[in-house]
Amino acid sequence: MDCLFCKIIAGEIPANKVYEDDKVLAFYDINPQAPVHILVIPKIHISTLNDVNKENSEVIAHIFEVIPQIAEKMNLEKGYRVVSNCSLYGGQTVFHIHFHILGGKKFGVSFG
Ligand code: 5GP
Ligand code: ZN
Repeated sequence: MDCLFCKIIAGEIPANKVYEDDKVLAFYDINPQAPVHILVIPKIHISTLNDVNKENSEVIAHIFEVIPQIAEKMNLEKGYRVVSNCSLYGGQTVFHIHFHILGGKKFGVSFG
């Protein structure tokens, strides 16, 4: 499968990792949109949010358990934003589900 994030998980493409366990990997986004911009991905390939189901949702729950740990490690005690872009109109460009952790600044209410 020709998936960029599966290649990062396999170690074929380097990434600046901030968290890893048996189910999840988190690393710095290559094109940061905030002072802190981390991507959290499952180690199993799930293409989009629309592909989350009873069989694979445990890893998504796990991602939301580790996000606060990553946020603490990145000194985001004042808060942060989590974003997941789903498919074409959601602006998804890498079709391996991922959650953006954006922090280090105060966000407004716009979603542009
Ligand atoms: P999406 O637009 O699909 O929600 O987010 C994909 C994200 O992956 C973008 O923010 C983009 O900057 C990031 N990205 C794309 N290629 C790479 C890469 O090779 N390494 C890293 N660390 N991030 C990448
Ligand atoms: Zn993948």
